[in-house]
Amino acid sequence: MHSDCLFCRLIQGGLPSHQAYEDAVVAVILPRQSVNPGHAMVVTKIHMENFYDADDDLYTHLMLVVKRTALAIKAVFAPLQVVIETSGIGNRHVHVHVIPVHGFYDLVPKEVMEKQDAQPPASDEQLASVAQDLRRYLTTHV
Ligand SMILES: [Zn+2]
Repeated sequence: MHSDCLFCRLIQGGLPSHQAYEDAVVAVILPRQSVNPGHAMVVTKIHMENFYDADDDLYTHLMLVVKRTALAIKAVFAPLQVVIETSGIGNRHVHVHVIPVHGFYDLVPKEVMEKQDAQPPASDEQLASVAQDLRRYLTTHV
């Protein structure tokens, strides 16, 4: 446990939280500030900063609980869609947001979409170059 980590304190440190599920590996907790009612976070119990540092068993379990949480949100809150979001930029402890959305701008700010729409489309040459770089890495490292 990292005493300066909010998620460690919520999961193990006695900081109060509302939990929807818990097992030996992960917990599903509700953020104090949510996008919509039903917004939940699946959080690893051990402190880990990056999802790609998880071994395959932990990662698979995490994502299975994400899927089950999404099904629960779909059944209980009947949103337009349930989406997942994670960045790891803010709280550096693996967690996946599972969010019921009722419209496009529930998750993506209008300003972000306008910025993306203002970008010129990538050329086939640019996309082929990126695909080649990723393919080269994936075929030699995964
Ligand atoms: Zn932590």
